[in-house]
Amino acid sequence: MSKEFKHFETKLIHSGEPEPRINGAVSMPIFQSANFEYAGEASYHDLKYIRLNNTPNHIVLHQKLAALENAEAALVTASGMAAISTSLLTILSSGDHLLAQDTLYGGTHSLITKDLVSYGISYDFIDGDRPETWQEKLKPNTKAIYVESMTNPLLQVADLHSVVQFAKSHDLISLIDNTFPSPYNFRAVDFGFDISLHSCTKYLNGHSDIVGGAVIGSCKLIEKITHKLNHLGGSMDPHTCFLLHRGIKTLAVRMKHQNDSTGKIAQFLQLHSKITKVNYPGLESSSGHQRARELFDGFSGMLSFELSGGLEAAEQFMKNTTLPIIAPSLGGVETLLTIPAITSHAGMTREDRQQLGIKDGLIRMSVGIEATEEIIDDFKQALSS
Ligand SMILES: *Cc1c(COP(=O)(O)O)cnc(C)c1O
Repeated sequence: MSKEFKHFETKLIHSGEPEPRINGAVSMPIFQSANFEYAGEASYHDLKYIRLNNTPNHIVLHQKLAALENAEAALVTASGMAAISTSLLTILSSGDHLLAQDTLYGGTHSLITKDLVSYGISYDFIDGDRPETWQEKLKPNTKAIYVESMTNPLLQVADLHSVVQFAKSHDLISLIDNTFPSPYNFRAVDFGFDISLHSCTKYLNGHSDIVGGAVIGSCKLIEKITHKLNHLGGSMDPHTCFLLHRGIKTLAVRMKHQNDSTGKIAQFLQLHSKITKVNYPGLESSSGHQRARELFDGFSGMLSFELSGGLEAAEQFMKNTTLPIIAPSLGGVETLLTIPAITSHAGMTREDRQQLGIKDGLIRMSVGIEATEEIIDDFKQALSS
């Protein structure tokens, strides 16, 4: 077991690091070796091999990620979707039933409604805001409940207290996709969730240069999920482990800036005459503000907004901006803009989008770590021309 550290910022740097340092190396070296000499390991899962998720680069990351959410254990995976799919396939078998929030990340939505169904796993969607309606969806074979900390792209926050309580009182395993707040703003396992899932592609790595995922939870659950991952094969390679490890160390400095900057940009947008709506739980006027304040230490770097003039005005605005990059994904150091209706949510019918409140001209923004004033100045000119 590695040393314990008190503050989140310190854990990012020091938790889980090898002791003693390997040949004195200050930075964790990359062990670019697929296999390792046999050392008398008794079980298949303990043989040292990259796919078995137990090389020195994996172990250090597992210890660090567990420390960040005050959890017993963690596991890194080849992508966020590998973390999500491997966890769900560990917990659910043919004949089981899942309750899932009705506003999921697109990949997760398809996994649950198409892939899991083809394996004999059924589901019902729940409204994260209305705990009183969950009981009627419960079945004798319900095994788990799955939610996200903040929804995409409207940044709504479900009643997470009730999710944890409901899971405990009905003996369900609770899973949360905690990608959007990142462990800096919300430690889901510490809060009471059984499993916290991350796309490390986003804030944890923070540099838009790898794809990776993480599962954080109890030793018992993480061991089971690791054994499933050993078979399914969605393991992270050592070089990606190294990049993720390096990225994680600056999570606090990045996220602090992003929390702060996004709050200022949201306020600017809210006061601008050409902006008709801003979705950001950090705004006092937002319907989810009180709940988000109670749950999170910060409101993260994601927001979305609508312009008067709909899709056409949104496309013109995006063309007029010079600083943000027009690209999908999120959580990196550079500011990104997308229009969900024609990118991430294009697979849905227009009617379904409207029902969820995703207008054609809605713009989603991932705020980077550039100077806040420079982003706001660029938006000012883009809105005035
Ligand atoms: C990106 C994302 C995922 C999927 O992660 P990948 O690393 O792309 O596989 C899952 N959930 C959320 C909330 C995401 O933003």
